[in-house]
This record gives sequence, structure tokens and C-alpha cells, in this order.
Amino acid sequence: MKNSYYEYFDLLTAGGASPESSILIIYTGGTIGMDTNADGALVPLDFERILEKLPELRRFRYRLRLIAPFLPLDSSNVGIAEWLILSEVIASHYHEFDAFVVLHGTDTMAYTASALSFLLDGLQKPVIFTGSQIPIGFTRTDARENFISALEIAASQTNGQATVPEVCICFSSVLLRANRSSKVATSNFTAFASENYPPLARIGIQLDFNYSHILKRHQTIFKAHKNLDNRVTIMKFYPSMMPDLVKARLQNQTLRGVVLESYGSGNLPTSPWLQDAISEAAARGVVFLNISQCMGGAVAQGKYEASTMLNELGVVSGHDMTTEAAITKLMFVLGQTTDSKEAKQLLRTSLCGELSL
Ligand code: ASP
Repeated sequence: MKNSYYEYFDLLTAGGASPESSILIIYTGGTIGMDTNADGALVPLDFERILEKLPELRRFRYRLRLIAPFLPLDSSNVGIAEWLILSEVIASHYHEFDAFVVLHGTDTMAYTASALSFLLDGLQKPVIFTGSQIPIGFTRTDARENFISALEIAASQTNGQATVPEVCICFSSVLLRANRSSKVATSNFTAFASENYPPLARIGIQLDFNYSHILKRHQTIFKAHKNLDNRVTIMKFYPSMMPDLVKARLQNQTLRGVVLESYGSGNLPTSPWLQDAISEAAARGVVFLNISQCMGGAVAQGKYEASTMLNELGVVSGHDMTTEAAITKLMFVLGQTTDSKEAKQLLRTSLCGELSL
């Protein structure tokens, strides 16, 4: 292996000259690739040592290539810059590989994977994110199972086409649509859940695909977008939130978009000061997207008096989107247009299966 980043490493598998599938594995860091150092702290392993821990990879009949596009990161340090690098790596290898597996920390995996689902427009190939709760070098690791399942799902074909041509998270016993997933547990193996959309596959003795729920795309042109706007914020409400705090955030002159994390089916306090603050920001062109703090179910603006005013203020209902999908979609949409009317229209539209209409 060449030890510098951006370098490729080809893994010869039992597939030899006629592999069943070609997969680009993109290693970004996270617990999956860590081991303890002499002081007992978890530190990222280099590429080759990860492969040493998984000799069974060589038994696959796949052509595998690995790439580490940046130094391995704890996913707490991953953001827009890395999302755009991942999108660019996938786009520049798009025609060379049948599928992509991204090894990523679990903490922000749902954000990265959601962002990629918007950036990779018209995707016709699997992009499967996975990681682990226990490092790959540890005896009870879940890394082996997650990684191998991700590869098998990435390689799966149905009638000569990729079975799951979308961005997904493969973790523990389920395959979830990326932009429907959230990290829900730190202490058990089932780290991700998708409350508002069924799993795309159950991973048991067999891979049991949920064909009717896998994204069907009619668009055939693939395009990797390059713009995301971080001039956005998430405002999670709680009882008796300080008005000055809310006003100060909404008065920020660089702000372009706000995800409101409201109560229940989309309700917020009916206080005049809050309506004034939203209305003033909206008049400057700030776009508001309303999602629920509840994991399951959807916003229904206007069902209660406590959300009727949001319709009048031009707040867009985020319906049943996750927080991760809502904020990355807002970044994406504001990266595509400066027109707030157009941005709102895009937010209302399901771009890649992120909301149920
Ligand atoms: N802190 C780690 C990360 O997100 C946690 C993990 O990978 O599970 O990079």
C-alpha cells in the first residue's frame, strides 16, 4: 500500500479477471477504523491494518479498490468540505465502479449520507454508508458484519441492474434510506433508525430486500452538485425559551434558512414576539422549514391554532423529514438558488425520497 492519502489500493479478490462487481470503498474514519494506542486511547488505524483485520474480503468475487480521500476523521469533524470531497470522489469514479461503500463514523453519518443523497442527483448506483460501534480490531466488533453486509448489498443486482440505486445506511440488521435515518443509540448495535420509512432491506441469514420501497428514478442523467450553503441554523424549541435568544439568532444578517424543530405535529408558542421575529426574518428572505421534534409522524401545519400562524408566515412544512435531512436539504436548496420562492418550492418537493407526500 502507498501510505499517503488520495492514494488508491487495489485488493485482489477471488473474482480475479472476471469479478461479479466492482466496488470503490471510501474510508473517512470513525470508530470502525480505530484501535487503541499504547496509552489506551482510540486512534484511527491506517488503511492496510484495516484490511489485515478482514482477511475474508479476499474471498469475495468482487474487484475492490480502496481510497482515503482525507486523513481519517472522527465524524464530529466532518462537514460540508468533506461532503463535497466525497461527492467529487464518487462522481469522478462513477463510470468506473458499479457501487460505492463509504466507511464513516456513526456520530454524523446520517448528516453526511443525507447531504450526499441531495448532492448526487440522478444517482443510479448504490452508495452504501457503514461504520461500527466497536472498532474493527476488537473481539466483539460489529465492524466485520456491517462492512461485509454493505459490500454484499452494494454488489447486489436484480435483473442486471443495481438492486439499491440510492444512498443508504447499512447498519446492524437493516438497510435504511440515508435521508430517512437518524442515529438513535450509542450503546447498542442498532445505532440507526428510520421511523417514517420502512427499511430497504433486512439483513438476516439472507438479504431480504423491500423492493417496493426502493427509489425508482426516471431521470438517467447523473450530476454531482457542488454548492451547499451553511448560512442556516436549527432552532429547537423548549418551553419558556428566552425571547432575546431567539430574536438574536433570527436577526443575524447572514442567515438564509432556519429549520424550526417544533412540538408534536408542528406547533410553536403563539406569542406575538415569536411571530414578529419570524415575520421580520422572512421579509429579509430567510426561509423557514418546520419539522417535528418527534421521531415518528409528520408536521400538519394548521391542525392546531398553534401552527396555523406558521402557514400565514410562509413557513414551509417539512412534513415527516428527519432533522438531518431537513438541515442538509436546506443547505442544498439554498446552494442552488438565491430566490426564496424557488427555494420553498424545492423544499416542498421530495427530491430523493426524503419526505412522504
Ligand atoms: N466518534 C465516532 C465517529 O463518529 C463514533 C463512531 O464512529 O461510532 O467518528
